[in-house]
This record gives sequence, structure tokens and C-alpha cells, in this order.
Amino acid sequence: MADLPLPAAGQTPRRILTIAGSDSGGSAGLQADMRAFAMLGVHGCAAVTAVTVQNSLGVKGFHEIPVDVVSAQISAVVSDIGIEAAKTGMLASTGIIQAIVETWGAEGLDGSVPLVVDPVCASNVGEPLLHPSALDAMRHELIPLATLVTPNLDEVRLLVGIDVVDDESQREAARALHALGPRWALVKGGHLRKSPVSSDLLFDGTDFSQFAAARVDTRHDHGAGDTLAAAIAAALAHGYAVPAAVSFAKVWVTECIRAAYPIGRGHGPVNGMARLGGAR
Ligand code: PLP
Repeated sequence: MADLPLPAAGQTPRRILTIAGSDSGGSAGLQADMRAFAMLGVHGCAAVTAVTVQNSLGVKGFHEIPVDVVSAQISAVVSDIGIEAAKTGMLASTGIIQAIVETWGAEGLDGSVPLVVDPVCASNVGEPLLHPSALDAMRHELIPLATLVTPNLDEVRLLVGIDVVDDESQREAARALHALGPRWALVKGGHLRKSPVSSDLLFDGTDFSQFAAARVDTRHDHGAGDTLAAAIAAALAHGYAVPAAVSFAKVWVTECIRAAYPIGRGHGPVNGMARLGGAR
């Protein structure tokens, strides 16, 4: 199993903040993030943005956390515990995005703490997790602060209006996303289902790098995007450069997808606990 350095007993691990929504079904959202952080030996902190009501059959609804409470959670963590990386997931609304952007600046985190923005817009079966009116704040306020932005192909379409169907359109999408202002853009190819490989394209404004893995044939892929972004953030917290962090996380999430399991009557999660092994 791919791995990061683990802390010795009693040693304070690297600390990461996820700013994300709760998934009551435990497959995606901050539950997937915290599982990845624990399995990778980093201490996960969480600023909750929304509480979703969901199970393996879908998202029944969500309740947003008041914006001042979102900001206060971030400030409470960074002013005491300190963080070496952060990631964002489901952010629900313009107000929450703006509160995060404001707090990020006010706490002096911009440029000093790597930030992975997973621009979650919808669940894996298309239920909205971000108000459409919040796309502008995502594009023009949060993404410019990102070290790395990690959209899937549906999110690419919503953010930059490009339908990725092949290598050339994937490059075009990476250029358009990078033009929004993040340091790096990763266009994930996992949703290009007719391709035998799942190929993610990383762009820093000059060079492209491709990260490919054989496609795993499973319907249990809930939480894959969160797990990838969380593993990238964990590697960044260890001081990895972005390409090395993406390379590590791609191997990590592929192992979690290979070990995915059914749950309930719908879509199961990727197995964030794959490193624990177990009988096959
Ligand atoms: N965050 C929350 C709270 C969610 O419910 C979901 C999907 O349902 C996601 C994030 C994104 O999940 P995935 O990693 O499957 O894209």
C-alpha cells in the first residue's frame, strides 16, 4: 500500500483541516476525509459547512451551518492547533464560500498553508450540493486561493463550460481552470467511463503531467473524489511537491477503489480503510 511517514507514539502528527459537509451515510464528505487522514497518520480537524441527510440511495436534503460558525471553526483550529494543509469539499452557498475566503485571509493562511479545493457541486448521482448561484464565488473568490483545484468532469463543465471527451479537451479544460488563478489544476478523468484508464491531468500553467490507473469496474465509488483530495492534502502537509502528492494520492485512491464495498441498497463507498487489508 502506498504510504506516508507515520508519526511515532506520542509525537504530534501533521495537522490538516477539512472544510466540508457531513455525510450521514459515512461514505463521502468529511467522514471520508477524516478516514483518509486517520489511515495516513495525520491529525484531521473539521470545519463543518453543512449537514447532509443521505444514505447509499442518495441525498435527501441538507442543512447549512451559519456562516459565522463556519468561520469560527476555522479560526478556533488555526489559532490553537495550527495546520500544515487544508482542503475544502461541499460548501453549499456563496455566503459560506465568502466566509471561508475572508477567514483564510484574516488568519494569514494565504500563501503559507497549502489549500486543496475540491469544488464539490453535486453528489455522484447528480443531486446538487452547491447552489448554482455560488459558482461565481467558487470560480472567482475561492479557486484563486487554491494551491490545487481538483474538479471531476461534471464540475469542469459547470466551472468552465468545457465538455471533456478526449485528451485535447482535457488539456483545454486544464488551461481554462488554471486561468481562474490556482497554482495547479487537476482535471480528473474518472468520469470518462468509456476509457479503459482513469487518467488525471495536472497543469501548472506551463507543463502537463498525466496520472493514470487502470479503470476499476465498480459502482461503489462514493467518496472517491474526497479520498483523493484528502490524500493529496496529507502529502502536502508532509511537504511533498504537488506532482508528487498527486502521484501518491492517485495510487492511494486506486487501492481504495479496488477494495470498495457494497452498503445499503445503493452505491457503496470506496474503501478508505483498504490499508487495513483483511481476507479476500
Ligand atoms: N461531500 C459531501 C457531503 C457529499 O455528500 C458528497 C457526495 O455525495 C461529496 C462531498 C462528494 O463525493 P465524491 O467524493 O463521491 O465526489
